[in-house]
Amino acid sequence: MIESLLIANRGEIACRIIRTARAMGIRTVAVYSDADANALHVRQADEAVHIGPSPARESYLVGDKIIAAAKSTGAAAIHPGYGFLSENADFAQAVIDAGLVWVGPNSDSIRAMGLKDAAKARMIAAGVPVTPGYLGEDQSPERLQAEADAIGYPVLIKAVAGGGGKGMRRVDAAQQFPEMLQSCKREAASSFGDDRVLIEKYILSPRHIEVQVFGDTHGNVVHLFERDCSLQRRHQKVIEEAPAPGMDEPTREAICAAAVRAAKAVDYVGAGTIEFIADASEGLRADRIWFMEMNTRLQVEHPVTEEITGQDLVEWQLRVASGEPLPLRQDELAINGWAMEARLYAEDPTNFLPSTGKLELFGLDGHGQVRIDAGFEPGDVVTPFYDPMIAKLIAWAPEREEAISTLERTLDAAEAWPIKINAPFLSFCLSRDGFLAGDVTTSFIEQHLPDFELPETTPDFAWEDAAAYLRLQASQEDCEDALTGFRLNAPSQSKVWLSDGRQTRVASTSRETRQDVVRWHGEDAVWLTYAGKTYRLGVPRGRDVAGAEGGTAADGAILSPMPGRVTAVDITPGATVAKGQRLVTLEAMKMEHSLTAPFDGTVAELNAEAGAQVSEGMLLVKVERNEQTNPSP
Ligand code: ADP
Repeated sequence: MIESLLIANRGEIACRIIRTARAMGIRTVAVYSDADANALHVRQADEAVHIGPSPARESYLVGDKIIAAAKSTGAAAIHPGYGFLSENADFAQAVIDAGLVWVGPNSDSIRAMGLKDAAKARMIAAGVPVTPGYLGEDQSPERLQAEADAIGYPVLIKAVAGGGGKGMRRVDAAQQFPEMLQSCKREAASSFGDDRVLIEKYILSPRHIEVQVFGDTHGNVVHLFERDCSLQRRHQKVIEEAPAPGMDEPTREAICAAAVRAAKAVDYVGAGTIEFIADASEGLRADRIWFMEMNTRLQVEHPVTEEITGQDLVEWQLRVASGEPLPLRQDELAINGWAMEARLYAEDPTNFLPSTGKLELFGLDGHGQVRIDAGFEPGDVVTPFYDPMIAKLIAWAPEREEAISTLERTLDAAEAWPIKINAPFLSFCLSRDGFLAGDVTTSFIEQHLPDFELPETTPDFAWEDAAAYLRLQASQEDCEDALTGFRLNAPSQSKVWLSDGRQTRVASTSRETRQDVVRWHGEDAVWLTYAGKTYRLGVPRGRDVAGAEGGTAADGAILSPMPGRVTAVDITPGATVAKGQRLVTLEAMKMEHSLTAPFDGTVAELNAEAGAQVSEGMLLVKVERNEQTNPSP
């Protein structure tokens, strides 16, 4: 068994790998960038090595620095986690060439599956069913358009080097194709350094079903059953579960066998996932499930498989990398119960934009029923440099319904401040009727999103609960001094001044105090959590009462919602614009965001040019209302 391990990753996955390595008695080495100097994975590892500046391409993506860190600390092996260098065949080979153990498949397997077009060709040869489409060499826009026309709309344009849901565009009609192609290629070039694309038939009623496979160096390959990852937003997984609802035994056997064939076709060693797309218009049927791609690494959602099989997949990886055979044979593996995972992001659930800064308040309590794989603790900082996923919550129960309700309860009690988290959105998804019935396609979220509402302002009951709580605190204190922090105007009074930062109110203290919603109180404020959303109500001190709205486009000021780079400017000063028209495209957190006109009007100011870096809150465009069509009140 390897004795020491460098983890070439960060966040929850680095912490998760450290946990198993430690349990196996393996010494752990973390690597970190400037932004992560005090990160949880650094604190948890036995040793940590600084590998460079905050941007990933200057630190976590620099293979040479990581190999040097392994050498300097005497680490025997490198685990890449997911993302970053995990599917980089050249890096895998460099690790091996440096005399280190690579915890992953050999570089040829990664290469064979790395590009979506080559992988599909390989699978066709191995007799695995694949989605119909165009895998061609000819990348001219004319040819691509002709192929799309021939396949028939809707089609999906996919970056051949794509991953993580990025570099994909659905095209519903021929005339949209040129613009979508351009935008896809632009994102592909900047995210993956390769702008080649393939075209696929867009499967309607699609479900994302994937199979966990595992190979060892002795020629054994097993599967650990399927996961259903159909609940997605913009092709990114949101909720994952195992097993897949509505999967019958013959269908399961067929796709799991196809997955094992796919893995064997590339001499697969280690943990891998074969992703399939199913046309679920008439339930799951073996003849309507097609290979999409293979991920040659551990997946984000591997815990749901661990929970239903009782296995530790990181332990399997480390054993296989050490040359041991797989811990179990196929006939020793079975499904037990149901597991459901939710990805918790530091993002504003109302607009899905990342929320960065210090997690002054951060609390997740699974009450022993929900596994929490977190990469952050209270006091940690979420930076804008990396993926904003901060934790995964994984519920297990004998039955699906119970797994859902347990997970929902935990999400509703999730608290974070001042960082916003997507817990209310996750909880919303879990509570939809269609989800409970297991009737989910990849467009489920898109269909239900219009029903998702979050109170924009602090709800009345929160003001009242806060006021009642403060009053109770005040009356319980014997010593007047203890009250100074709260600065209650008069504890015996039935009203208290409170501010939520936007608005100041006199709230009534008459309500009965609900201690359970009050999460925390500090010197001059209380925090309350309802349905996964935390509110802060403070006792105002004159100065901070001013309630600037900020960030809204009601006045026509389009501010940059986050730090990023301008990739396209579609307007010129003085141009006439229509409500909803795209003005500027921004790339941030490796995704494109369109900023649109809030109403019909004229561009009065333009402070953006393609290629420019912009900071959060910067005024990019000012739109002035069209007097004639929109007379001011
Ligand atoms: P990535 O490598 O970025 O994860 P995938 O090829 O795995 O990209 O596709 C991601 C998601 O996009 C899938 O889970 C599915 O929801 C959707 N998708 C992919 N291919 C198709 C298709 N041909 N038709 C409909 N949806 C698709």
